[in-house]
Amino acid sequence: MYYDSAGDFSVYNLRESCNEQRNVECIISVNASSVQDIQQTLLFAAKHNVKLVVKNTGKNTTFHPTFLLVGAPPSGVISSVLTVSPGTTWDQVYTAAHANNVTILEGIGAGGTVGAGGGWILGTGHSILTPNYGLGIDNVVQFTVVLPNAIHVTANNFTNLDLFWALKGRGGPSFGILTSTTYRTHLNPPITAAFYTATYSRAAMISLVTSLNTNFMDNGWSGFRPYDLNSLNLTFIALGSPPKSPNALSVYNEFVNQSAALPGVNVTLSVIKPYTGIFDWYEDNFVNTADDIGFNYTLSDIAGVPLSSGSRLLPRKTFEKNTSALAQAYVDFAAARPFIIGGGVLPSMDPSTVSTNPTWRQMLVGITLAFSWPENATDADIIHGHSKSSSIS
Ligand SMILES: Cc1cc2nc3c(=O)[nH]c(=O)nc-3n(C[C@H](O)[C@H](O)[C@H](O)COP(=O)(O)OP(=O)(O)OC[C@H]3O[C@@H](n4cnc5c(N)ncnc54)[C@H](O)[C@@H]3O)c2cc1C
Repeated sequence: MYYDSAGDFSVYNLRESCNEQRNVECIISVNASSVQDIQQTLLFAAKHNVKLVVKNTGKNTTFHPTFLLVGAPPSGVISSVLTVSPGTTWDQVYTAAHANNVTILEGIGAGGTVGAGGGWILGTGHSILTPNYGLGIDNVVQFTVVLPNAIHVTANNFTNLDLFWALKGRGGPSFGILTSTTYRTHLNPPITAAFYTATYSRAAMISLVTSLNTNFMDNGWSGFRPYDLNSLNLTFIALGSPPKSPNALSVYNEFVNQSAALPGVNVTLSVIKPYTGIFDWYEDNFVNTADDIGFNYTLSDIAGVPLSSGSRLLPRKTFEKNTSALAQAYVDFAAARPFIIGGGVLPSMDPSTVSTNPTWRQMLVGITLAFSWPENATDADIIHGHSKSSSIS
């Protein structure tokens, strides 16, 4: 980053010449690599009335065996936290947590590309470990942030409490630009994974798996259950090896037996596999694609296509009171990847400690609905296509 003699950006001149010579708006990219860069960017944007979009890049993680929150009394030292700089990807954070023999509540994406200190955490952050450890925002102990007026502040439960609350779930750069996020970590328990694939006649299988959703979750399982027109996959994990929930395996086996007895169903894969920890499971199934079992995210994520998406949180009561209507709604989508990531400790966590939508506390399943179309589609095609929307997440 270069500043001119007045402390302003050198890019200012570029913008001026752009406007004068080509009579077009310029897009200026700022490679901000320090807090000062972010502060100068905000001042520049305010001074010149420039719209600002924050993107996430960066690469630092620091493990602290002990950590004193800014503003906390000396007796308030906490242990085992990990501070990540904005844009550090989850893949880098898993590796740092693993190197220190701890587990961190993480987002799962293809190759761990989602940022661990930006949009994920500001938007709440859900994880396959959420039923065990809460949402991303429940795991943050401190943020540092540059406010729109360019002042750099710390926010935690002792300092700037209202800002700390607001940052936990209101999304995007609404209140400033994050410069660090400090997460509590957890012990590194072994896990048990279940992988299942079946080809099917759709309605009966989706009805069965929908009716068993709460049973799976109440017995320690979380994960994904993607399906399409021809098959259903389960990628589940439970803490402990064997699972610490005593009925986890019997609930899973009961599902396998019931599903195999359905007309038209052919169970092509059913594997229970122990892992030494969440990192091993992640490496096996999301990084080393040659080792993956069953459904693999990495192979099926999409990018670079026109797409319209939205998401819904499905609360427990929908599964309990409207099971058949919900199953029918699932059937109406050509394909979907419901995330089984609620329940567990989540409903008992105080919604007032975070600013996110309180519905997150009651959610059992998160589902993203998406529809894509060919680049040359007409508006009419796109609108008509929405009525037959498929769903992915
Ligand atoms: C493959 C994939 C898998 C996913 N898996 C999960 C999952 O398991 N759980 C989950 O909860 N979500 C998941 N998501 C959704 C993901 O959390 C959001 O897309 C998130 O907004 C990505 O944030 P980012 O910082 O990586 O991206 P960006 O596009 O860089 O940022 C997203 C938003 O955050 C803002 N922002 C970024 N950095 C900062 C910063 N430092 N300060 C202030 N604002 C900032 C940006 O301006 C933008 O508004 C997934 C997404 C993908 C593509």
